[in-house]
Amino acid sequence: MPDMIAFPALSIPDTLAAGPGPGNTDARVLAAFAGAGVADHMQADVLRGMIECKQMLRSLWGTRNIHTFGVGGTGFSGLDCMLSAILPGDTVVAFTNGTFSGIDCLTIRLKAATREELRADPMNPQAASVTIVTVPHGQSVTEEMVEKALAARKPKWAFMAHWETGSGRINDLKGFSDACERHGALGLVDAVSSLGIADFSIDDYPGVHGWASCPQKGVLCLPLTYAPVSFTDRYIAEVRANGCATYVHHPVLEARHWGVIDGKDVAQPAYHRTHSGYAIAAFHEALRLTLDHGRARKARDYAFHEAALRAAVEAMGCVVTSNMTSLVVLNLPPALKGREKELVQTCRAEGFGIWPTLSEPVQVRVGILNQLGEARITEIVSRFADALNALGAGVNKEQVMAGLARHYRAALAAE
Ligand SMILES: *Cc1c(COP(=O)(O)O)cnc(C)c1O
Repeated sequence: MPDMIAFPALSIPDTLAAGPGPGNTDARVLAAFAGAGVADHMQADVLRGMIECKQMLRSLWGTRNIHTFGVGGTGFSGLDCMLSAILPGDTVVAFTNGTFSGIDCLTIRLKAATREELRADPMNPQAASVTIVTVPHGQSVTEEMVEKALAARKPKWAFMAHWETGSGRINDLKGFSDACERHGALGLVDAVSSLGIADFSIDDYPGVHGWASCPQKGVLCLPLTYAPVSFTDRYIAEVRANGCATYVHHPVLEARHWGVIDGKDVAQPAYHRTHSGYAIAAFHEALRLTLDHGRARKARDYAFHEAALRAAVEAMGCVVTSNMTSLVVLNLPPALKGREKELVQTCRAEGFGIWPTLSEPVQVRVGILNQLGEARITEIVSRFADALNALGAGVNKEQVMAGLARHYRAALAAE
């Protein structure tokens, strides 16, 4: 028998989450999580909370889709649920322009591969029925690209990330939806990074039939709570007709616990698995926060503060290649090229949580999730300037900070 070992209580410090996600969880969400009583997953208020979350999600996401709910877990849990309708041999055209859509494309290949294809390369199968369109890092997926690939392949399914957090690029959602409609493909979208930040309504994109997001980016809940998903009746009909090989992430079966049974809202949900009253309380508060802020207002606030951060890092000699509003993805000044990981590690060791890109090319990502205020952006800019100077960049910090202050004063004057 090995010796029994126990460690001292784990303590985790507070850091400034200035990356692509998870975001700086709001104090109200943490309080809701910690304040929930001990109650099981069928207790009346837990179930009421789930039904209210479902309804708030529909309004945040601008949809009448009945099958709109949360999948327990992270963003990839919601994506797994959405992609589970893809069966071996299904034809798919999938676009990738960065780390996350690249992983989604792997999930798609894993699901669409035949048994022989899976056996030939079990961790990374090449599925003949799947066409992967690789768009270079730093570029967006455009309507022309989608149109060309769908016209050539006429697939059953098409997939794209809305906001690709790996490269910080916004892809053309309307172009994707329109092309899907023209070619009769069922569109599937990774909306992990856009939900809760971009101002859009699902129902304006009729070519898209499946949507998946995550708890901890724009929605500002804790990681490992609930990943929002939404499916049209057309998507659900596919699952009803052909099935899918999962219990836990089944788009129809999992919806039962959220009070969606036989395609209808019901007052009495049915057990699917042991949901967490704590997670529900947190998710509920996060959705309330976002709806209080207002979707359009929140989107404007992100755009405004991202512009301030962008101008400040450009003033430090960095080149920004992203166009998302929740983070900037940048190249360091030429003299610091090759030292991206060193910079990020130094910052992280000091509790300033910025990130490198997770796939080539190496760039730096600085995010502003739930940091929508002048004081918070100023702290991020100040710490970033200090970190660059510690590597010998010779940034004129005073000038950069003065420029940032001017940005905010000019905006106030304009209001
Ligand atoms: C963060 C992210 C994911 C993965 O989410 P997890 O919560 O880490 O599982 C997937 N897609 C995109 C676009 C993301 O930004």
